[in-house]
Amino acid sequence: MADEKQFDLRRALDANEIIPYFQPMVELRTGKLTGFEILARWRHPQRGIIHPDEFIPLAEQTDLIGQLTGNLLRSAFAAAAVIPPHLTLAANISLTQLTDRTLPHHIRNAAQQSNFPLDRLILEITESALLGNPELAYLIAHELKEQGSRLALDDFGIGYSSLRQLQALPFDEIKVDASFVRSMTFTRESRKIAAAIIGLGNSLGLLTVAEGIEDQNHADMLLWLGCDIGQGYLYGRAAPAEDLPATLAQRMPS
Ligand code: C2E
Ligand code: CA
Ligand code: CA
Ligand code: CA
Repeated sequence: MADEKQFDLRRALDANEIIPYFQPMVELRTGKLTGFEILARWRHPQRGIIHPDEFIPLAEQTDLIGQLTGNLLRSAFAAAAVIPPHLTLAANISLTQLTDRTLPHHIRNAAQQSNFPLDRLILEITESALLGNPELAYLIAHELKEQGSRLALDDFGIGYSSLRQLQALPFDEIKVDASFVRSMTFTRESRKIAAAIIGLGNSLGLLTVAEGIEDQNHADMLLWLGCDIGQGYLYGRAAPAEDLPATLAQRMPS
């Protein structure tokens, strides 16, 4: 069964069924669009749209993640031709990929094909496991930064995304996990934890980004706590490239 799924994913990659969706990111203070996060979707011929939780772990375990990321970035950079040049794209990179020496080269190649400048690319490092080779990850992280991209620590505060990682790699941003945003409006304790995370980010000189913002209450509170950037259903769900022009027209009326 697992083999069958792996075979199906391999076929999907070759058939270009893994496509980028784009979710708006906004500056909390002004509500202005700052860019989009690229989120993988599998457009399956029989099953319809499949979410990444169902195939990213398999891709990570089978080494298909490199090809998946490459395909996804190429499609996303091509689609970004309609995006104004001051907006950024944020891509998800599995922590294990930071020990792949070819990663910087593959990202550079994908960007060059569409003339997408690498200083408009943010790499969100997502962690599903502890890292085996932190020294190599450190070198590759630096190489990615030398190419011009920024690094964000994703899902900060949960799982393996910890204070230690913050020290280990040269991050520019932290993304406060949605679970803190969700619980923030319920208890004083959760609010204090969110405040501490954002305060930590600010005092380290990092850009702070909050995900999972679903209502104005969340947004107001995060702004008050000093959070810079927000993302969530309040501003827009992830949508396919075809929807980018409409989103841009709506969020950046000229
Ligand atoms: P993530 O990076 O934390 O992305 C945020 C997830 O929350 C996305 O789920 C997004 O659709 C969802 N979301 C956004 N706004 C809201 C909101 O207001 N409320 C709620 N309840 N949810 C919201 P999605 O697209 O299913 O992605 C799940 C995870 O899969 C991502 O979590 C990321 O860790 C991983 N992922 C997605 N694309 C890639 C990829 O290309 N490579 C890798 N390595 N991982 C990916
Ligand atoms: Ca992310
Ligand atoms: Ca996240
Ligand atoms: Ca998350």
